[in-house]
Amino acid sequence: RVLAAGHVNWDVTLRVDALPDPDGEARIESQHAAGGGSAANAAVSLAGHGVDASILGSVGDDENGLLVERELAEAGVDTDRLRVVDDGETSVKYLVVAASGQVMVLGNDGANEAVGPDDVDAETVADADHVHLTSQRPETATRLARLAADAGATVSFDPGRRLDARDFSATIERADVLFLNGREAASVLGSEYANAPPTRGGLVVVKHGARGATVHTATGSYDHPGFDVDAVDTTGAGDAFAAGFLAVVLGADGIDADRIERALEYANACGALAATSEGARTAPDRPEVEAFLDD
Ligand code: ADP
Repeated sequence: RVLAAGHVNWDVTLRVDALPDPDGEARIESQHAAGGGSAANAAVSLAGHGVDASILGSVGDDENGLLVERELAEAGVDTDRLRVVDDGETSVKYLVVAASGQVMVLGNDGANEAVGPDDVDAETVADADHVHLTSQRPETATRLARLAADAGATVSFDPGRRLDARDFSATIERADVLFLNGREAASVLGSEYANAPPTRGGLVVVKHGARGATVHTATGSYDHPGFDVDAVDTTGAGDAFAAGFLAVVLGADGIDADRIERALEYANACGALAATSEGARTAPDRPEVEAFLDD
């Protein structure tokens, strides 16, 4: 069982002809609303790959919160640890996607991050074999990583674009698997990252967008060039990638080094397929990935 911890949002994707200039106006060509937030996206994807998944995060006691919770439950995600904050507002993101592929995000964190370090204890991670951490308060992430390690569970961390604004070094040190895009890798690891994964003997997975991804281990690296698809919207591709990677690499005893190459290929297929449709909650499930890889 995997516990995904971090942001749970309601996403509204607006497809426009072009991003407007200040004082300008853009024409909405289509709109689409669905659950989002990197922890929730990962949990839903994991469930789609047949992994027993649960979510730790917070929403407000508003209509969007109800929609988010219902979507998670319908996807088969255990929502027992999803906190509903009294008088809270569920985090909303407006993703404005231009025909050129350029994306602008408007949003707030709303009730996200109501879960603090004092709200989690050994009980929170007791039934998890693996804890997947996404952007959240660094103190909460670090405490969860510590609790997971104490309970014998493995930990992955996908900090996302807030990495620059917050000090996640203590969480990074405790992660068995670290997911970074190229820019994040440069900021965390510097130019030497290829030879020096900073996690304790763990894996550093660097995503290169359309050019696939690389896994660095203590003993060597694996590369996958990615898949050539017609990308429409890459929002959520990273979450789909992480979930796909974990669904394959996690074995009965935690991270199975023999499965890294297969996990990398599977994860790239997940990211590529997620990029072919609009919105963040577009990760493929296992049958879709297998059909794509068999083609
Ligand atoms: P993030 O979204 O976290 O910044 P990336 O943009 O690198 O990360 O995307 C994550 C993964 O999704 C990539 O490693 C790749 O497997 C897949 N992916 C993203 N964009 C494309 C694309 N245009 N074509 C094919 N695969 C893509």
